[in-house]
Amino acid sequence: MSKLATTKDVFKITLPTPFAVGDVNVYVVKGDTLTLIDAGAKTEEAWQSFKEQLLLLGYKPSDIEQIVITHHHPDHVGLLDYFSKDVPIIGHPKNQPWISQDKQFFVNSEPFYKELFIQLGVDPAFITLIDMDEELEYSCRRSLTTLIGEGDILEGMTGFKVLETPGHAQSHIVLYRESDGMLIAGDTLLAKISPNPLLEPPQFGETTRPRPLIQYNNSLRRLLSLDISTVVTGHGDDILNAHELIQERFESQKERAYQVLQMIKKKPMTAFEVCRQLFPKVYLKQPLFTVSETVGQLDFLEELGEIKIEVVNGQHIYHSN
Ligand SMILES: [Zn+2]
Repeated sequence: MSKLATTKDVFKITLPTPFAVGDVNVYVVKGDTLTLIDAGAKTEEAWQSFKEQLLLLGYKPSDIEQIVITHHHPDHVGLLDYFSKDVPIIGHPKNQPWISQDKQFFVNSEPFYKELFIQLGVDPAFITLIDMDEELEYSCRRSLTTLIGEGDILEGMTGFKVLETPGHAQSHIVLYRESDGMLIAGDTLLAKISPNPLLEPPQFGETTRPRPLIQYNNSLRRLLSLDISTVVTGHGDDILNAHELIQERFESQKERAYQVLQMIKKKPMTAFEVCRQLFPKVYLKQPLFTVSETVGQLDFLEELGEIKIEVVNGQHIYHSN
């Protein structure tokens, strides 16, 4: 058996990315159809590495018959550009504007971000630091050919069913096979780190922003209801104790939230003020990540009834209850 084997029919390929997260894992699934799950960031280095590792499994890129994406982030979709236009690309509909780099979508999202940043109390000078183009450079310009969602069975991939797990991305899905408890999780559950609950603009006529950490916790709660043997993940090692790890994630997230509550009890603050206190060293380098993480904790506390919002000149000031 190849050293790349995770189970008898799911094979892991690890690729370099230019991002802080480090390597990304993609998977070759040998079913009736040769399927690739996710596609790495768009760099020549990743593509060469992909081809070499695929060859160890006895295949070349043109043998891949379909590609399923777990979510739209560049480190998971960029290499789609290297595949033939004839290969079906399968994913949740919310991937579409991101993976096609739909200009109109980004233009339409501008007022959303503008209003959001005012609410969060973000310094206008700071906004220019949030540079989407840099990330998108490593993404792709492709389109979904097949839309999937909750409960769908994936053709050609024996027994894998789609579960929607929004949170880290609004487009996120995982693939679960009941017969052996195998979960292909993308970034929904990672062995070493907790994925960032990234803020995204609303889609499909939604009028309010998603609350990604609340969604993420609900997604994890769903995973707790499944019998899981092995989780193969988007970054890092496989997970063999999924339920235990999820409980640990809940605990540490709650701890972080209560740390935020202590800060707000001392002094009512905007989200951006909380962010700067929480991430004094990183907030300038990773603005979207740190603001998203902060808003996640605030949404969580608000949901629990621990804090409330007072609107002053469009800014949301968080007070403890
Ligand atoms: Zn991701």
